[in-house]
Amino acid sequence: MGSDTARPVIVWFRRDLRLAENPALTAATATGRPVLPVYILDDDGDGRPHGAASLWWLDKSLRALDADLRQRGGRLILRRGNAEAELLRLIEQTGADHVFMNRRFEPDAFANDADIAHALKAEGVECHGFNGSLLARPGSVLSGTGKPYRVFTPFMKALLQDLPERPETPVPATLILPAGPSSEDIDTWALHPSVPDWSQSFDWTPGEVGATEALTAFIESALADYAAGRDIPERLSTSRLSPHLHFGEISPRSVVRAVCAASIQGHVAPAQADKFITEIAWREFSTHLLHQFPFMAERAFRPEYDNMPWRSDPEGLKAWKTGATGYPLVDAGMRQLWATGWMHNRVRMVVASFLVKHLLIDWREGEAWFWDTLVDADLASNVQNWQWVAGSGADAAPYFRIFNPVTQGEKFDPAGRYVRRWVPELRALPDRWLHVPWTAPSAVLADAGIRLGHTYPRPIVDHAEARARALEALKLISVRPMDEEGV
Ligand code: FAD
Repeated sequence: MGSDTARPVIVWFRRDLRLAENPALTAATATGRPVLPVYILDDDGDGRPHGAASLWWLDKSLRALDADLRQRGGRLILRRGNAEAELLRLIEQTGADHVFMNRRFEPDAFANDADIAHALKAEGVECHGFNGSLLARPGSVLSGTGKPYRVFTPFMKALLQDLPERPETPVPATLILPAGPSSEDIDTWALHPSVPDWSQSFDWTPGEVGATEALTAFIESALADYAAGRDIPERLSTSRLSPHLHFGEISPRSVVRAVCAASIQGHVAPAQADKFITEIAWREFSTHLLHQFPFMAERAFRPEYDNMPWRSDPEGLKAWKTGATGYPLVDAGMRQLWATGWMHNRVRMVVASFLVKHLLIDWREGEAWFWDTLVDADLASNVQNWQWVAGSGADAAPYFRIFNPVTQGEKFDPAGRYVRRWVPELRALPDRWLHVPWTAPSAVLADAGIRLGHTYPRPIVDHAEARARALEALKLISVRPMDEEGV
C-alpha cells in the first residue's frame, strides 16, 4: 500500500452489514487511513434481484448500520446504480485508491466482483477481498483427492477439523470516518412495502445489535434443548439467526465461538452445541456446493431429475402459496411465512415436499416463492434445501421418501398449537381431528364452526393418490446411483 496517508480507503459493504468481526473493515482500518463506508444497491449486478421480503430487511439493516457509524462520527454512503460505475465515481470524488470488501460466493456475484476488481485495477485502484461470511472459503474444504464434497457428513468433519482458532475481532477502535461525499436518501429507495404494507406483522430487529441480542437470547434459553426442541414448530426453539447471518449482521465465527463457549463453560451440554454447529455447517455446505456447481441454482444437481414430468397446476400452486391446501400443517406453514417472512425448518420441509411430491410442481416454483417471501432468502441455502427435498440435490433425501403432512403434524404439533395459531378457523376443532379435519364427523365440525369447502378447504389432493402419482413419476426418470467420488 502506498504511503499517501491522507487518501481515504473505501469499505464496500454488501452482505456484511456489521462492524465487529468484519475482516474487510479491520484490514481497511489497519491502513491508518480514513475509511469511507459505502453500500451500493445494484439492481442488476447482484445476480438474482432481491425478493420483496429481503428488501424489507435490507432497508432496516442499512439504517441500523448507518446509525452505528453515526455513533462513531461517520455515516454510511448510499448509492444506487451499477456498482462499478458508482465505485469509480466515488473514487474520482474522494481520491480513494483502495477498496476493501468481503467476498460473496454466489456464482454471479462472485464473477461480478472479479470483473469489478479487474476494472478498478485498470484505473490504479487495488481491491482487497476477504471471507467474512463463512467459516471456510469455498474451495478450501476438499476431499483427499482434491475434489469438492458431495456428501454432507464428511464435508462437515473436514470443515470443523481444519477450522483455525481465531481470537475475536471487535469493532476497530481507531476507525477514522471522514464526512465523505454525499449519500442518497434511503427513503427514496422505497424498499419498505407501501401499497399494501404486507409487513405489518413482521417482528424482527434487523441490524448488528438485533443479531447479537438474538444470539444471546438463544444461548440463554433454547440452546440447552436445541437437538429435540428444534423440531417443534410451535416453540421458539431455534435461533432465528438466519436473516441476520444472510445479511452478515453477525459472523458465523462469532456465532460458533459463542456457542462453543457456552458448551465449554458448562451452560449447555456439548451434544446441544454440536447439533447447532451441524446446522451452521449445512449453511456452509450449501454455499460451497453452489459455488462449485453453479448450475444448481437453475438445474437439478442430479441431472436425471430435470426429466421429472412436472405438472402445470396454477390453481394448486396458488392454494399452496396462500395456505389453502386443506392440509392444516402445510397451510399453517405457508401462512406463517406470509405473516412473518420466516417459516420453521421442519415445516419448510413438509410444505416443500407437498409442492414437489403431492402436487408434482417443479421445485423451482417453490424456490422462487420462498425467494420472494423469506427474510432469510439465501440463494445457496434455498436452492440446496429445495433440491434436498426434491431428491435431486447433493446428499438429498431420496425422492421416494414422501412426507405425510398429517403424520408430520401429529408428531411435531401434537397439541395443535402451531396449527391453531396460524389457521385460526380450525381453532375449536378437537386435537383428534385437527390435522385431518375432513375426517371429523359433521356434528364435530359444526360444533367447531367449520364448514369444509367454505370456512376451510377440503384437501386439494388425496395423500395416497398423490403419493402413488409421485412414485409413478419417479419411475419415468431413471435415477442413477450417486457418483460418490470425493466423499
Ligand atoms: P437454526 O436451527 O437456529 O440454525 C442456525 C443456522 O444454521 C440458521 O440460521 C441457518 O443459517 C443455518 N441452517 C439451519 N438449517 C439449515 C439448512 N437446512 N440449510 C442451510 N442452513 C441451515 N435457510 C436460509 O437461511 N435461507 C433460505 O433461503 C432457506 N431456504 C430453505 C428452503 C427449504 C425448502 C428448506 C427445507 C430449508 C431452507 N432453509 C433456508 C434452511 C432452514 O430452514 C433455515 O436456515 C432455518 O429454518 C432458519 O431458522 P433458524 O435461524 O432459527 O435456524
